Amino acid sequence: MTLNPKQQTQAWQSLDAAHHLHPFTDNGELNQKGSRVINRAEGVYIYTPEGQEILDGMAGLWCVNMGYGRKELIDAATEQLNTLPYYNLFFQCTHPPATELAARLTSLLPEHLNRVFFTGSGSECNDTVVRMVRHFWASQGQPQRKAIISRHNAYHGSTMAGASLGGMKPMHAQGGLPLPDIHHIDQPYPFGEGQGQDPQAFGLERARQLEAKILELGPENVAAFIGEPVQGAGGVIIPPASYWPEIQRICRQYDILLVSDEVICGFGRLGHWLGCEHFGVKPDLVCMAKGITSGYVPLGAVAVGDRVAEGLLKDGGDFNHGFTYSGHPVACAVASANLALMEQEGILERIQQHTSPYLQKRWAELGDHPLVGEARGIGMVGALELVADKATGARFDEKVGAGTLCRDFCIECGLVMRAVGDTMIISPPLVITESEIDELVARARRSLDLTWQHLKG
Ligand code: PMP
Repeated sequence: MTLNPKQQTQAWQSLDAAHHLHPFTDNGELNQKGSRVINRAEGVYIYTPEGQEILDGMAGLWCVNMGYGRKELIDAATEQLNTLPYYNLFFQCTHPPATELAARLTSLLPEHLNRVFFTGSGSECNDTVVRMVRHFWASQGQPQRKAIISRHNAYHGSTMAGASLGGMKPMHAQGGLPLPDIHHIDQPYPFGEGQGQDPQAFGLERARQLEAKILELGPENVAAFIGEPVQGAGGVIIPPASYWPEIQRICRQYDILLVSDEVICGFGRLGHWLGCEHFGVKPDLVCMAKGITSGYVPLGAVAVGDRVAEGLLKDGGDFNHGFTYSGHPVACAVASANLALMEQEGILERIQQHTSPYLQKRWAELGDHPLVGEARGIGMVGALELVADKATGARFDEKVGAGTLCRDFCIECGLVMRAVGDTMIISPPLVITESEIDELVARARRSLDLTWQHLKG
């Protein structure tokens, strides 16, 4: 018997409920509702089996930067699967896709980043960073330098080290986190935590918490500071211009390694290969994933600056760390094809000159909506702060669930927009066109109207 699309969806939903545990989900609750099945995608749109077209305002999970259905990436994967579907990089072996990608990647990155360590994901990059920076300092005769400083409400992944570096309280509440020697300072979130203050002064105040924390722990005990140039999963939190230069100054003054987590901000999201370039920051280590392959296959990479790399090459001996899928050949081949495609299409110039200014202009217009306390954005990300009182910026009671309500209306209107509490965020594919941006903004406005009517009605 052939099933019609609705029956097919229900069949998948019941198998899903019976056998599949979803990430970051109350699975009991989801099983009652049934999961949303997506079975096809093209360009910036995803589709349900029943044919509903949804504009993917989040590029999957901030990763499908070059859009869905790119033949160049599919062909690169197919060719590599036919040639060498797997081999490892342990035991003194290498293979062309990893070598070529390492060379290509470092040629695009700032001058002092000349080496990469491959992983399978962003979380694995951050686990690698924790072990690498501690091993580096030990190799330099400073084994006591173990402390790593991060920020509250940062997101650095879901493994034990990634979630510890992250500053998500609900994650720390499960599984006995954070791990020892990981510390958090406050985030540079002007709308959420700096209301009524001069943004630049607020940025400096937040950066100087790093200095205070270093002095509290003793600079001789601190290995590194880690941060996302713009916090993504925390709610598209854009630091004031004063923040990153001050962080850089403090790291240099106390000889603390600076790690930029570019898992979201890298590969064009802020209009540069790395987001830190936008802020003029020169990190010692860089974590990359997601957009490196446009999400088509899993891959992560840690770029290692000359100082750390040369210290490790000279004094480090074996680095007892690595993954079966470190530098998987298919993932590396797709990443190289993805970087080539980005260059061929001049995507960075297109974002800087056209797409980002247009997206930000249209997005800012949503700031006039009675539900929106702030519409902000940078590069190819944006956020809307939903508020109960536009004049004072007062939030809704948490129990109202305004963000979740808005997110559900967005889906009804054919748009994926994510809710982080009552902050609505977007991160569309970088290849989005102006008319698709118009569509995105129109669907977002319709969803805001429906949310407003519901809350006021
Ligand atoms: N770092 C950042 C900044 C991220 O946004 C994410 C994922 N959203 C991660 C690390 C973890 O990456 P993954 O899910 O690939 O492990």
